[in-house]
Amino acid sequence: MGRNIDSTCSQCRRSGEKLFLKGDRCFTPKCAMVKRNYAPGFHGPKGRKRLSDYGAQLAEKQKAKKFYGLLEKQFRLTLTKASKKTGDAGKNFLRALEMRLDNVVYRLGWATSRAAARQLVNHGHFTVDNRKADIPSFSVKVGQTIRVKKNSANNVYFKRAGENLKRAERPSWLNFDVKDLSAKVLHEPKDADLPLNLNVQVIIEYYSK
Ligand code: SF4
Repeated sequence: MGRNIDSTCSQCRRSGEKLFLKGDRCFTPKCAMVKRNYAPGFHGPKGRKRLSDYGAQLAEKQKAKKFYGLLEKQFRLTLTKASKKTGDAGKNFLRALEMRLDNVVYRLGWATSRAAARQLVNHGHFTVDNRKADIPSFSVKVGQTIRVKKNSANNVYFKRAGENLKRAERPSWLNFDVKDLSAKVLHEPKDADLPLNLNVQVIIEYYSK
């Protein structure tokens, strides 16, 4: 299986903005974007080059992939599926990315980064409508309930996750029940729930060539 071998913080530095890939560290002065806000490598400190149209499209696509932690094939496949739906392809694409189970676990505050959320899902700690759900790319549907498995709820990690849960700013489309440790999908993400830092039209232009 392919994987991104760039160090996590290098991915932010190359994108030129914080992508919040490392959880709590991203909110501290130790963040590499605070200490070294330039591209990694020998020429990095000399400043960012002016990009051609193609370069800007490629950079935006790479940024979005890193933001959601996807590899090329899955990213492109998600866009292809979203383009076939009726409505705005860009918004459909972002909605599809937001409704991935790993992203939902992250948005709920169960993990401080999408990478950590993906690992929790992979390890089988969640159910969707009381069925085992251990595939990070699983797309949640309106009306479904995501719950921490009973055995997992007693796990030290989940007992300690209380602080993250309190701090999490959950989107309006997810209704979280603290007592039950579950969340219901109320509706699909609205425009205001979609990330503002991604220029999805530029990404679509990149793939339309
Ligand atoms: Fe990016 Fe977080 Fe590393 Fe800062 S600490 S550079 S936001 S991954």
